[in-house]
Amino acid sequence: MRLDKLLSNMGYGSRKDVKSILKKKDVTVNDKIVKDGSIHVEPNKDVIKVKNEIVEYQEYIYLMMNKPPGVISATEDNRGQKTVVDILPDTFQLFNPFPVGRLDKDTEGLLLLTNDGKLAHQLLSPKKDFEKTYYAEIEGTVTEDDINAFRDGVILDDGYKTKPAKLTILLSEQTSKVEITITEGKFHQVKRMFRAVNKKVKYLKRVSMGELQLDESLKLGEFRELYKNELDYLL
Ligand code: URA
Repeated sequence: MRLDKLLSNMGYGSRKDVKSILKKKDVTVNDKIVKDGSIHVEPNKDVIKVKNEIVEYQEYIYLMMNKPPGVISATEDNRGQKTVVDILPDTFQLFNPFPVGRLDKDTEGLLLLTNDGKLAHQLLSPKKDFEKTYYAEIEGTVTEDDINAFRDGVILDDGYKTKPAKLTILLSEQTSKVEITITEGKFHQVKRMFRAVNKKVKYLKRVSMGELQLDESLKLGEFRELYKNELDYLL
């Protein structure tokens, strides 16, 4: 890849900033000063240094976000609405991350962002039956009948029958609190499943994906890179 792109991706600023670093003769490739950012380097073979410090090349980025309501799970929006990528700092945006799957605009909670297309593909593959667990507040009293219906599969508005889902009632009152685990990712799936049993989701938050739990110390809109053990689990 181009030297200036690599340096820019590794947080040395825009291409323009990188140009000025190069001009100052601060960059060496295999111990030779390089002033031309357009040269091609092999990230894990050539030794690249800035001011004598080795630049460790990182190709992929893996972020966990506590998605806030009001932002779109996409990289850009043609109506100019704010996206989950817009709220990342430039240092992360340089990696061109995208959200793994979608949460609705009003849904909160665990969202992964990465530029690793292979991992995203694996996690989203319907064959994988990857479990996603949500905490939800429901208008109406959720009952044993709903647990059974979700276990057996409910028919959505388009005629699709859902795969078995696990519903746990945390509080069963006029507004019920529940936890629901699904293995699919149909459009508005949880909301449509509750609609199928004549109930309405008032609040929805994803709390886990497989064994990966939302870090509850992240406030809405905050994010962090995945820890090694979390990444080892996903990869
Ligand atoms: N199901 C929904 O209905 N919405 C989401 O955002 C995620 C799952």
